[in-house]
Amino acid sequence: MKILKIAALSAVFAAQFALAQFKQTPLPYAYNALEGNIDAQTMEIHYSKHAAAYVANLNKAIAGTPQEKQTLFQILSNVSKLPAAVRNNAGGHYNHELFWTVLTPEKNTQPSAKLAKAINDAFGSMDAFKEKMSKAGADRFGSGWAWLSVDKNGKLFVSSTPNQDNPLMDVVEEKGTPIFGIDVWEHAYYLKYQNKRADYLAAIWNVTNWKEISRRYEEAISKK
Ligand code: MN
Repeated sequence: MKILKIAALSAVFAAQFALAQFKQTPLPYAYNALEGNIDAQTMEIHYSKHAAAYVANLNKAIAGTPQEKQTLFQILSNVSKLPAAVRNNAGGHYNHELFWTVLTPEKNTQPSAKLAKAINDAFGSMDAFKEKMSKAGADRFGSGWAWLSVDKNGKLFVSSTPNQDNPLMDVVEEKGTPIFGIDVWEHAYYLKYQNKRADYLAAIWNVTNWKEISRRYEEAISKK
């Protein structure tokens, strides 16, 4: 009886792993933690419906293909050779997993000295960087993302991608390692901000997780 139970449980686990290679990490704060800047209902729908759908559809799209055994990084860096469903959903999964971590309810987090210097070197000042990043998000026509990334020489740059593309993909013009991304799909802000994307972009700076962006920066440059 006991053995049968264990066998049955193992089969369940095996099936889960086979069907769900990728999964969402838990949101690192409550849905209402960013209230005032991003409302709880938007966070809940965004995480539990939109982002959940990307990972479910990614797992569906790669089922029975060699991508099932690849890392997300491998899939993204080869995405030009893969179906659109893989591009859209692998991008969607990666982008959202990054997005949750670069936001925080913690007030006044600060970039590390190294990142602060790199921002000054690349953009002239923190304010000039923020302006450029917000503009990248505001100017994105339709749905997409604004990014702060590290290029192959270790230099910071701001870019924007359509849909769920990102700078790790071999299909994008400006390639690099993203360390900060802002989702400018309407699903990220419409309930609270309606058509006022610029107000949402301004509010992002109140909940930016500079500790996490600094950690990602140092990780990216250590690999150069
Ligand atoms: Mn989104």
